[in-house]
Amino acid sequence: MNTNPNPRQRALVVGLGVSGTASALRLCKAGWDVVVLEKATERRRGGYFLTLFGTGITAAERLGIEVPDRFSEDIAYYNVDRAGRRRRGMGFAEAVAGESRPVVRGDVEQAAFDALPDDVAIRYASVPVALRQDKDGVHVDIEDRAAGTVTTERFDLVVGADGLRSTVRRLVFGPDNGHIHRLGYMLAACALPGPVPGFRGTDGLVMSELGRSAWVFAFADRPPTVLFNYRTDDVDAEFTRPAIDSLRAVFGPEPTGSTLGWLLDRFEEAPDHLFDTAEQVRLDTWHRGRVVLVGDSAWCLTLYSGMGASSGLAGADMLGAMLEQHPGDVPGALGAWEAKLRPFIEFHQETGIAMRKLFVPADHTEYQIRSLFDHVVGTTVGRTVISKLEHRSKASRMKTVDIGLS
Ligand SMILES: Cc1cc2nc3c(=O)[nH]c(=O)nc-3n(C[C@H](O)[C@H](O)[C@H](O)COP(=O)(O)OP(=O)(O)OC[C@H]3O[C@@H](n4cnc5c(N)ncnc54)[C@H](O)[C@@H]3O)c2cc1C
Repeated sequence: MNTNPNPRQRALVVGLGVSGTASALRLCKAGWDVVVLEKATERRRGGYFLTLFGTGITAAERLGIEVPDRFSEDIAYYNVDRAGRRRRGMGFAEAVAGESRPVVRGDVEQAAFDALPDDVAIRYASVPVALRQDKDGVHVDIEDRAAGTVTTERFDLVVGADGLRSTVRRLVFGPDNGHIHRLGYMLAACALPGPVPGFRGTDGLVMSELGRSAWVFAFADRPPTVLFNYRTDDVDAEFTRPAIDSLRAVFGPEPTGSTLGWLLDRFEEAPDHLFDTAEQVRLDTWHRGRVVLVGDSAWCLTLYSGMGASSGLAGADMLGAMLEQHPGDVPGALGAWEAKLRPFIEFHQETGIAMRKLFVPADHTEYQIRSLFDHVVGTTVGRTVISKLEHRSKASRMKTVDIGLS
């Protein structure tokens, strides 16, 4: 139902990732005319592994986004080492209560895109270059990079969903330093062409070493993806050479063994890969006047929280709901939206930092704890006990809570 009192209200959404697409969709449902700017010349596909937890699944359902489910009971995780030893382990999502869906990022983006109404205007190769706002609207200078033109348009609302290195954030909230917090860890990920030799396609792997790790994430119905993670004191130096050279240096000088060697070779050959630093975005406020940030641009939680896509979907869903509840009062709606969402996001920012230890142990103490954990989950009884404890934890509940209702 269109609940917007003024059907001619216009929203500009910047970014066609999970958060931007979901925001565009929800604003359309609330009766807004929506224009989307996307920097890339076309929609991206594929991407790395991610788990959608209950919060994200519920929001997606409410938004009408049909996210596929690539889970199967056959999926099993193993802790492995360079010498070829393997022992049953535990996957990233196994301990969390409620439904979770292993997918690739492109699955969520595609499903959200499929749900978008035809009348959303999507402009590729287009970026905002300046924003000026008064109490009645926002004037945005938009650069069309294909045409080489800059034009100015007026909007009633601007949603910056343009990711970790957001332009909207820079234009409205100021420079990145102060907002982006580096955690001192690097990520490298790519899709694998098939199962890891010696393992089934539904086998996931964890090779956890001091300061570095390699994870293989498995799906029911598509080849796995790999994620390398490592600690560094100098993030900038990691970008001064090809990603594979940084990875080989970090995972050396010891012989890789066959599994790690195979994974590194596949990364080197991959047509597409991610190589980036783990960074959180922290802002005192996510809205100013009629401009609001949603998703990684506002609160990037990092992969360690496992809640980036879920929070982008839930934040977008709640944004539309708040605009409906505050008709004709965009700043009021944004204030109410942030007040409701912020405790949830801050919880996941904190737990995200703690969860990093699970992905890559930074020092000897963390490594000992990780080894003890691996030892416990190596048995069926151990896995059951850990699952039961985790199911009761606040972290698990907060991954499944319906923040639209809370
Ligand atoms: C390895 C890895 C694993 C992860 N695992 C999980 C997980 O298990 N569970 C989970 O929920 N999340 C996970 N995440 C996080 C999740 O993927 C992100 O939080 C989420 O995809 C962010 O979506 P977004 O739309 O906010 O930003 P982005 O995906 O960054 O999208 C931003 C969009 O804006 C566009 N853009 C950028 N600048 C401009 C501009 N100036 N003008 C116009 N367009 C612009 C970009 O091209 C892009 O399309 C993981 C992340 C990584 C890296």
